[in-house]
This record gives sequence, structure tokens and C-alpha cells, in this order.
Amino acid sequence: MTGLGTRSVHDDVEEILLSHEQLQARVAELGRQLSADFDGRDPVLVSVLKGSIVFLADLMRSIDVPLSVDLMEVSSYGAGTESSGQVRIIKDLSSSIEGRHVIVVEDIIDTGLTLNYLLRYLHDKSPASITVCCLLDKPARRLAEIEIAYRGFTIPDRFVVGYGLDFDERFRNLPYVGVLRPAVYAGGPPEG
Ligand code: 5GP
Repeated sequence: MTGLGTRSVHDDVEEILLSHEQLQARVAELGRQLSADFDGRDPVLVSVLKGSIVFLADLMRSIDVPLSVDLMEVSSYGAGTESSGQVRIIKDLSSSIEGRHVIVVEDIIDTGLTLNYLLRYLHDKSPASITVCCLLDKPARRLAEIEIAYRGFTIPDRFVVGYGLDFDERFRNLPYVGVLRPAVYAGGPPEG
């Protein structure tokens, strides 16, 4: 590698866990299921920045019933990658969800603490229903019980990047889900 222009994000990937084709096929399937199940219910997709944006963008285009979209951004309290369950809302919903059928679109559920907090928060806003749709389920470290109605893939307890998911704000633009080479992590891979 010489100049900046010759470096590719793909060089840092050790293994591809889910290919672009696998992701596209599964997301289309989820879209078809959601279209059938939410026909006539005018759902609102509520997604959490930033990791879910790629999944949301593909999923919403696979759903062919009328819907709206809202975005939230949250951050966990405390340092490091350990989820504490204490969540700060950085960006709140733009519109009321009272009486609406909410579909929470999440990139990955690990301990479940973040989503657990978010679901309680959304419940307090009196929606007609709340349904969870997550792309990746990592059940090995689950601490909070979450009912996942729609799940893309169950994956092992490894730190994954790509298709919206980052390491240190990088690698969101990988079109697949993969695992990075150990050398990329300065002090060992993050937990989670
Ligand atoms: P939880 O509260 O379920 O432990 O944390 C969920 C959040 O942790 C996800 O929305 C994501 O931001 C982050 N996370 C958990 N596992 C991974 C992973 O394997 N890769 C990446 N990039 N983020 C993860």
C-alpha cells in the first residue's frame, strides 16, 4: 500500500460471515413477511442511528404497504463497549407514535439492554403495538429478555462489522457482515 487512495476497507476483513447476497435475500424475505403482516396497519418503522441505517434502507424498500419512518439516536452511559443498560437519548422521535403500530428496526441485539430500555421508553408513548425486527441476533451474552418477532440471522458471539455496523466509526460501508483481522484492534477486539 502506498498512498491513501490505494487502501481498501476490505483489506482489514479476516472473514465474511454473511455475504451481500445472503443479506439481500434475507432482508427481502423479512420485507415480504412484514408487508403481509402489517397490511392495512400503516406501521411506523422506528430505527436507531447509526448502525441500523443500511438495514433500514434495504428493509423499507422491500415493504410494499404504506408506512412511515422515524429515527432515534441513543448512547450508552459509561466507558468502553460494555452495555450498561443506562441509555441517554440523543435524538428523540420526530412524530407522535400514540395509537400507531411501531416496528423497531435494529441492527444487532447483544445483551439486549439498550433495546430493553428503548422498548420501555416507546411503551410509555402509548403505541397500538410494538414489534421488534432485528437483522442480527447474538444470543450468547443476552441479559435482558427480548421478544424478537422478526430476526434476520442468529450469529455467534463475535464482534462483527459492516452493513452499517462499525468499529470505531469505520467499516459501516462494507456491503457484507464480517470479522476484522486482529491487528486492526489496537488493544484486542472490543467486547460485544
Ligand atoms: P446491547 O445493549 O444489546 O448489548 O447492545 C446493542 C448495541 O451494541 C448494538 O446496537 C451495537 O451498536 C453494539 N454491538 C453489539 N454487538 C456488536 C457487534 O458485534 N458489532 C458492532 N459493530 N456493534 C455491536
